[in-house]
Amino acid sequence: MLWRSLKKIRVEQRPGFVSFTFDDAPETYFTRGGKILEKYNFQATYYVSCGVFDKQSDVGKIADRYLVEKAGKQGHEVGNHTYDHLNCGQAKFRDIITSIQRNRRQMPELMGSSFAYPFGSHSRKARLAVRLLGMSGRTINPGINRGVLDVAQIKGNCIYHRLGLDECFRLIDRCAGSGGWLVFYTHDVCREPSPYGCTEEEFEQVVERVHERGVQVLTVADALKTLKAAQGDGG
Ligand SMILES: [Zn+2]
Repeated sequence: MLWRSLKKIRVEQRPGFVSFTFDDAPETYFTRGGKILEKYNFQATYYVSCGVFDKQSDVGKIADRYLVEKAGKQGHEVGNHTYDHLNCGQAKFRDIITSIQRNRRQMPELMGSSFAYPFGSHSRKARLAVRLLGMSGRTINPGINRGVLDVAQIKGNCIYHRLGLDECFRLIDRCAGSGGWLVFYTHDVCREPSPYGCTEEEFEQVVERVHERGVQVLTVADALKTLKAAQGDGG
């Protein structure tokens, strides 16, 4: 990979840019969240665990392989979320590597080097595994990515119904005004979302705000490529 050996990069992007990410692949994030992004011609990063396809979960029914492949063929990014939604903060180093690689083998053509820690749970061992595999690691640590960024600890900000949208809007305005890379994540997008999701109206309001502020939207992989290019090949 272009940035296989890259561990830290500088984020001095002005104007900033935004990435929309979704975890776990509940069907509604393709059928509802994805439709909203399509309206604005934005592409997302979908972090999937192939071992739970087609199963029921806390965030609704998980999509099947067909829906994920369809999204990938439409230009969205398919990211890795371990094969079995492993808690990487508690797992052994070897198990983390095995689960990430097993997941990647299920979709070798579509799944690239973007990874998100299930449950947002990570440890020094988990971050080391992600780096050794040449991947990026999205966390649930809030804030805008700015200054020196550890690629195995990308900050992510939730769009959750139970928390409201004020913080999301504030972050978008800050990103539009003073730059940086703002990463959002959510799970299900539906009328009665789980504690880890939001409604379609809420999701569209966030997307609309990004659109209004004229902030560029990139997948996680494209954002990292852009950042790498901006600082030259020296890494
Ligand atoms: Zn997850």
